[in-house]
Amino acid sequence: MTSRFDLLDRVPNLKLVLKSRLFQPVLQLITLFVFTLAILAGLFGTSAGSRNFGIVFVWIVWWALLITILVPFLGRAWCTICPIPAPGEWLQRRGIIQRTPGRLRTQRRRWPRRLKNMWLQNFGFLGVATFSAIILTRPQISAWVLLGFMMAAVILSVIYDNRVFCRYVCPVGGFIGLYSMMSPLELRVRDCKTCQDHTAKDCVVGNANGYGCPWLVYPGKLARNTYCGLCFECLKTCPKDNITLSLRPFGSDLLVGKERRLDEAYKAFIMLGCALAYSVVLLGPWGWIKNWANIETIFHWGLYAIGLWMFTLVLLPGLFWLASALARLVANQQSSQGTLFISYAYTLVPLGLAAWIAFSLGFVLTNGSYALAVISDPFGWGWNLFGTADIPWTPLGASLTGWLQTGVLIVGLLFAIQIAFRIARQHSSQHRQAFVAMLPIASFLAMMTFTFLCLYLG
Ligand code: SF4
Ligand code: SF4
Repeated sequence: MTSRFDLLDRVPNLKLVLKSRLFQPVLQLITLFVFTLAILAGLFGTSAGSRNFGIVFVWIVWWALLITILVPFLGRAWCTICPIPAPGEWLQRRGIIQRTPGRLRTQRRRWPRRLKNMWLQNFGFLGVATFSAIILTRPQISAWVLLGFMMAAVILSVIYDNRVFCRYVCPVGGFIGLYSMMSPLELRVRDCKTCQDHTAKDCVVGNANGYGCPWLVYPGKLARNTYCGLCFECLKTCPKDNITLSLRPFGSDLLVGKERRLDEAYKAFIMLGCALAYSVVLLGPWGWIKNWANIETIFHWGLYAIGLWMFTLVLLPGLFWLASALARLVANQQSSQGTLFISYAYTLVPLGLAAWIAFSLGFVLTNGSYALAVISDPFGWGWNLFGTADIPWTPLGASLTGWLQTGVLIVGLLFAIQIAFRIARQHSSQHRQAFVAMLPIASFLAMMTFTFLCLYLG
């Protein structure tokens, strides 16, 4: 068992804050205000994306915070404060702060068993990515997409108990779940035996102090961050004081062998493939592909969409299948090819996260200064609320960006290779066998890193 640093024991008052029923709703109300402003600005503000709060604060400020800080260091902390499911959840609960007595108010339908996985989130993300060139730049379309997310969350909250939207539908929640496995923060039970012996399972069914886990998780068996939305309800309901929040080594969840799945493996392929596609379209020198993604003509956009889906769903997994088959062959590993393909796919998590951070650094440093202007004039109507509306566009760190991107990608690659060896070790009886098995996977990872570096460094 790797060492853990128990934050609830060591940080004064942290438990008190997280157990408070005010903690989550207050933060959600703040983000809901910003989210509503983003939608209003998108619908009624200027159509110039770089002057519109909806575009600048969602796709530059929020995105940069999410991918470079929140997810890598705090895992699903965004899900704690996300405003999208909040109205639906408050409707279900018939209240915002206090625990309302009785059951959730929904139609109590059962979520289909075949959809209890990440596939909807995978295709949802690919769908958004296919239209991303227009979603990220056109305020009205961006606003309708955000509004659509919230409407979907409300509708699902009326039909099904708990946060079905977050767990099975939200395209953002899917990739946060995948990459939260890298985070050094984890919520777990202190002692699994205590849970086994506690038949009442307050954390699942709820009690007067809080609701049963809204993410449909049983904390007693929680082994990875992927599906825990850090809502801290179980911290409030557990009568045995058996829940804790700890710091742990980065990427610990990637080594949890028993819960690896094909839908999660595909999430890793889709995310890595989309990071490459976004880098090509938004940062690359090829104007024609940008025009195709921008739906210049339906025909060319169709070609772009087919290319993106084939690349992420067929070509990338196909190449990785070959790498994992080679690993199995040269190291004579006994596990099935399918098991190895899925297991090794988790090496794409650190590399994919590094690729998204590198990509985000590229456009955030270039375009981040727009945030100063739009905070004073969110709708682009000529306001100057804080006296910053006239600050001109100032790209930052142009000479540094390439170095930062290279550094992040190299760290991601080294981390991924280390995970590849440790996963190979789980399927090998000897160190040497694991080392040999790791080589084809490391070659694939190095090839992907090299492709990103060529793109960023020109
Ligand atoms: S309520 Fe606490 S002790 Fe009981 S099963 Fe849940 S986490 Fe474990
Ligand atoms: S396990 Fe606990 S913190 Fe995680 S989603 Fe469930 S109730 Fe919330």
